Amino acid sequence: MTAPAGPTTRFAPAPTGRLHLGHLANAIYVWGFARRLDGRVLLRIEDHDRQRCRPEYEVALLDDLDRLEIAADEPATDELRVGPSPYRQSDNGVAYADALERLARSTEVYACDCSRATFATWQASNGRPWSGPGCPGGCLARRLEARSGLTLRAAHGDGEEAWEDLLLGARSGPVSEDGDLPVRDRNGNWTYAFCVVVDDIRHGVDLVVRGEDLADATPAQIRLARLLGREAPPEFAHHPLVRRADGSKLSKADGATAIAALLGAGSSKEQLFGEALQRVGLARTGEPVRFEVAIGRVRRG
Ligand SMILES: [Zn+2]
Repeated sequence: MTAPAGPTTRFAPAPTGRLHLGHLANAIYVWGFARRLDGRVLLRIEDHDRQRCRPEYEVALLDDLDRLEIAADEPATDELRVGPSPYRQSDNGVAYADALERLARSTEVYACDCSRATFATWQASNGRPWSGPGCPGGCLARRLEARSGLTLRAAHGDGEEAWEDLLLGARSGPVSEDGDLPVRDRNGNWTYAFCVVVDDIRHGVDLVVRGEDLADATPAQIRLARLLGREAPPEFAHHPLVRRADGSKLSKADGATAIAALLGAGSSKEQLFGEALQRVGLARTGEPVRFEVAIGRVRRG
């Protein structure tokens, strides 16, 4: 494969439900930035959470992408259908285990038995939520043995990280707003933050295009990437979310916005692209547009 002239970005849905209008808006931004910057798009299946993800949702997600004729530069949906792939998180446990070893050489990784109740108790007696490095139970110093039922955290330090967001402009924030970052949860799942940072390194992703609800998680992820040996963080573009009429975030439970349901009820894919554009403010009206036209509406902030 020839090296891309521009950045490598990714479309990375989690198979915890059906593809909905929020995913479509994200796809428009992802492919829009790739087009504008002469980059390429990877498709990644983010199924790190083994309790919430289901293989049938992955199949449905691939079907929906095919139906919409949205194709990544790599891999083809058929490659994901036939077997293990470097682009499916559940097939790559070795990569995360290796990364954990690497992380443990650059900082302390420790088992933590704090529960939600531990955080709530600390908050009740201190009048504010726990923030800053560590955890309310002081687990780093307790040297608990790592085992099932305990969270693994990385002591990723204090202070702030800053970045120049392609849509939000100059941003910065604390790296440890909720304490040290969990890298593996109490059920044994690698966490979202750990997986995406490791994946973006191993896949050569240098532009992350995602919803603005993840902007606050960015400083910790920049720090984690540095601890894993990444010198230059990726660029970030955090875009508006498709919201419900009451302003709340769209979730996968909203059947009314599921792509398959809308197509099944007679909407064309062009109508869906138009609606997604309008709902994130990229078009005044929701008139039908082709995907190629929709992604041309994406501009830097
Ligand atoms: Zn703890």
